[in-house]
Amino acid sequence: MIEHIGDKSAPAHPFVISGPSGVGKGTVLSYVVKDHPEIWLSVSATTRQPRPGEVHGKHYYFLTEAEFDAMVDQGQMLEWALVHGTDRYGTPRKPVADAIAAGKTAVLEVDLKGARQIRQSMPEATQIFLVPPSWEELERRLRGRGTESEEQIERRLETARQELAAQSEFDVVVKNDSVSRATAQLLHIMGIER
Ligand code: ADP
Ligand code: 5GP
Repeated sequence: MIEHIGDKSAPAHPFVISGPSGVGKGTVLSYVVKDHPEIWLSVSATTRQPRPGEVHGKHYYFLTEAEFDAMVDQGQMLEWALVHGTDRYGTPRKPVADAIAAGKTAVLEVDLKGARQIRQSMPEATQIFLVPPSWEELERRLRGRGTESEEQIERRLETARQELAAQSEFDVVVKNDSVSRATAQLLHIMGIER
């Protein structure tokens, strides 16, 4: 069920989407943007290594530690955080400003720490938290994706516990029990009809 989101419900303002690793953020967002050129997905910068098939500039900007430092030092990150205690992820500031200026519905995928920063710097953004139908299903999706080692999975599950405990901080909580239902709910929240 979608809760009331107050005076942030007008379309074309920024949206933050957060949720534990493996919940399906990437999957659902790929459907949200499909056939919706008015929605612009922010491409984050990260110091983690690309997974097979991930493309620089499309999935992430894969940066060295020094390159990431330089962007932070020059004030080019809208927010950034150390995620899962290992790698840094951040949202480049200028493309977000440009997308909003162009009238796009900007969507930023960030972790809990990033969402907290954006709550301060961009309070007009509607903050959405994606939850799994159950803890067991989250574990199953994370392991089923097969992109992390067991040690990385354990670390992500530990972060997931902390993130799920903070879901009440968000404007809306959407359950990803089915990709099509979650996609439809996100489009509805964004004020976009299918
Ligand atoms: P995230 O971006 O949140 O880390 P992904 O989009 O990579 O998560 O999804 C993690 C795994 O879960 C993927 O293998 C994906 O295919 C699967 N998945 C995503 N949404 C669902 C769903 N509603 N039902 C079943 N599996 C899903
Ligand atoms: P992954 O390594 O699975 O692609 O992403 C790990 C986590 O990093 C995601 O669950 C997401 O919450 C977080 N993340 C991705 N991009 C950003 C970003 O730009 N800023 C912050 N703070 N977190 C991000």
